[in-house]
Amino acid sequence: IQWYPGHMNKARNQLEEKLNLIDVVIEVLDARIPSASRNPMISELVGDKPHLIILNKTDLADPVMTKLWQKKLQGPRTLVMAMEAQHNTNMQALITLIKKAASEKVKKLEERGASNPIIRVCLVGVPNCGKSTIINRLVGRNVTMTGDRPGVTKGQAWLKAPYGIQILDTPGILWPKFEDQDVGYKLAAFGAIKDTIFHADDVALFVIRQLRQYYPAYLAKFANCTKDKLENIGDTDLLLAMTQNNGMRDDYDRFSLFMLQRLRKGKLGRISLDRPSANNEN
Ligand code: GDP
Repeated sequence: IQWYPGHMNKARNQLEEKLNLIDVVIEVLDARIPSASRNPMISELVGDKPHLIILNKTDLADPVMTKLWQKKLQGPRTLVMAMEAQHNTNMQALITLIKKAASEKVKKLEERGASNPIIRVCLVGVPNCGKSTIINRLVGRNVTMTGDRPGVTKGQAWLKAPYGIQILDTPGILWPKFEDQDVGYKLAAFGAIKDTIFHADDVALFVIRQLRQYYPAYLAKFANCTKDKLENIGDTDLLLAMTQNNGMRDDYDRFSLFMLQRLRKGKLGRISLDRPSANNEN
């Protein structure tokens, strides 16, 4: 697996250049996998700029975990906000937080006589975590962006949001951690990296293992069996049984994709696969 292609390096350099222009870095994480969807270089890239973390897609995440993550990620220079951008039409809380994060700069400029200081922000995050959705909400219309192609540039443009906030029109696509196989599976499970990087049935088996551990009741419900029965069947046999029960004979791949689609849409339940205390620093 080619985890860190050359264009990612290029994207990183471009992002670094852009960050020089930015007052507040908004890092968007998938609330279901806040650790896996975090870029390991982010702290280095952000430096001591004000930093805002959005835990997005909270409607799909385990609310208990989201609370824990919010607490964990909060820091002296890091503000954290949980949201479900797809359903939020009112972005006032986020705007307030951006202003709060930029308050030092704004204060300085106001002292120098500026009446409406501009706050420049940039959204960064792995593909599919909701950056474009959030930008569209902030701007109040649907902006066409270059899309999720790392390294793709177009002329730098600033989108205007209320209260002097300006957003860099190309979100920064960050490449996730790649040294840990589980991170890859989690990203694949929730659609942040292409399905084709892994075999769907490998990702499905990974998800089954995780659900067994953390959400056995959801797994039993999805598999249409009792929790007792779950305990006596291995992962592969379970996958086969589910495939057959869904009329797909031995087409593991097809069933696996189906299962992953259900997972991504929250149809298996509100599931988070990163836990703040056990296996993750942040
Ligand atoms: P980007 O690649 O980071 O720009 O992500 P997008 O903004 O394109 O969002 C990816 C997908 O996630 C889209 O289908 C959105 O509609 C969906 N999405 C974004 N935010 C949320 C959310 O809070 N909840 C849910 N359920 N879906 C969301």
